[in-house]
Amino acid sequence: MSSRRLILLGSTGSIGVSTVEVLQHLRAMGEASFEVVGLAAGSNASLLAEQARALGVRELALADASAAAPLASLGNVRSGPDAALRLVEDLARPGDVLVAAMVGFAGLASALRAIELGCHVALANKETLVAAGEIVTEAARRKGVQLFPIDSEHSALAQCIRSGRIDELDRVVITASGGPFRTWSAERTRNATVQEALRHPTWQMGRKITIDSATLMNKALEIIEAHWLFGLPAERIDAIAHPQSIVHGFAEFRDGSVIAQLSPPDMKLPIQMALTWPARHTGVAKRLDWTNLKSLEFEPIDHARFPAVRLAHQVIRRGGSAGATLNAANEVAVQAFLDGHIAFGQISDLVEQAMRELPDRALRTLQDAQDADAAARAFIRHRTGAVTLGT
Ligand code: NDP
Repeated sequence: MSSRRLILLGSTGSIGVSTVEVLQHLRAMGEASFEVVGLAAGSNASLLAEQARALGVRELALADASAAAPLASLGNVRSGPDAALRLVEDLARPGDVLVAAMVGFAGLASALRAIELGCHVALANKETLVAAGEIVTEAARRKGVQLFPIDSEHSALAQCIRSGRIDELDRVVITASGGPFRTWSAERTRNATVQEALRHPTWQMGRKITIDSATLMNKALEIIEAHWLFGLPAERIDAIAHPQSIVHGFAEFRDGSVIAQLSPPDMKLPIQMALTWPARHTGVAKRLDWTNLKSLEFEPIDHARFPAVRLAHQVIRRGGSAGATLNAANEVAVQAFLDGHIAFGQISDLVEQAMRELPDRALRTLQDAQDADAAARAFIRHRTGAVTLGT
C-alpha cells in the first residue's frame, strides 16, 4: 500500500493527540497508510519529542523558542512564532495532507500556505475559515485541493448532504451540547467561574474551544465554517441544542426527508473521516451502544442568554472582515476570562461591542485578515485594560 505524506500542525493538542492515535490505528489495520513527515506544536517540547520518536519524524517546529533546545538531537527544528509556517514551506508538496489542528488565528497562515502549495487540508482549526473563509476557499478552489472538516458537526453534514443533490437540499442544522450552563439562570451564567466553564458535559477538548462551547461561540464559529464549506447562506444554516451529543448534524431535503449522522462524542471518527474521505475504514472511535441509548433530546437555543449564534448569522450577511473581527475579539476575550480579568458574561458582551463598533473592510489577502484581526485584538485589550493579554 502506498503512503500519503502528512504534516500535522498542533500535534500535542487534543485533536493532535487523537490524530496520532487514528494514524497508528489505520497503519495497524493496513487499510490506509500515511507517512508523517512533519510535526508542529506550541510549547510542549516533551510530548512533541515523544511523538517524533514514535512516528519517526525528523522535521519539527515549536513556537516557543525558549523550550526548543531539547529537540535539537531529534532532527531539523524550527522555532519561534512562525515555526509552523516555515515547516509547511520547507516540506509541503502537491498532494500531501495537512492536518490543521493548531488553535486560533495563529493557524491561518500555515493552513493557507499549505493550500497554496497544493496540499489537501483536514481542517480542525475552524478559526481559519471564520477569519478568512473567502480567501481560504478561493485558494482551495484555485489549487484544486480538498478542504475537509474535522469538526464533528461538519463531518456529519458532509456525510448527510451526500444523500441527495445540492439543489435538493433545503437547509442544514448542527447540534450543540448546550455547554455546562444550558440549564443555568442568566444571572448565574454571567458569573460562572473558569473551573465551571471548563467542565464540559460531553466532550474533552482544549481550553479555548471548551470556553467557546460554554458561551456557544463555538456554534457561531461552526455556522460560519458551514457557510464557507457548503456554500449556504445564513438563513439555511441553523443550530439546535442536543445535550446527549449523539446526533451531530442533519440535512433537510426539499421533500421533507431529514438525514442525520449519529455517533458517540469521540473526535477520532471525524478525524479518520477527514483523512480517508470519501472512503470508510474500520473505525477506532467508540461505537454507539443502542441498548444504552435512552433518549435523544432537542431544544431551541436561548438566544437571549447566548447571543453568539445570532452574531454568526450577522457575520455571514456582513461578509468582508466581520468574521476576522468576531474571531479575534472572541480569542482575546476568552483569554482575558481564563486569566481572571473579566467575568464569563463579559466575553459575549465584548464580542458584540467589537462587532458593533469596528468597521468592516474588504478581505482580499492574508494581510487584510491580519489587519482586521489586529484591530479587534487592540479594541478588546483596550476595553479590558489588560494590554498584555493574547498574542
Ligand atoms: P488544544 O489547545 O488542545 O491544542 C492546540 C494545539 O495547537 C497544541 O498542539 C498547541 O501546542 C498548538 N499550538 C498553539 N499555538 C501554536 C503555534 N503558534 N504554533 C504551533 N502550534 C501551536 O486545542 P484543540 O486540539 O482542542 O483544538 C485545536 C483546534 O481544533 C481548534 O481550532 C479547535 O476549535 C478545533 N477543534 C477541536 C475539537 C476538539 O475536540 N478538541 C473539536 C473540533 C474542532 P502546545 O500543546 O505545545 O501548546
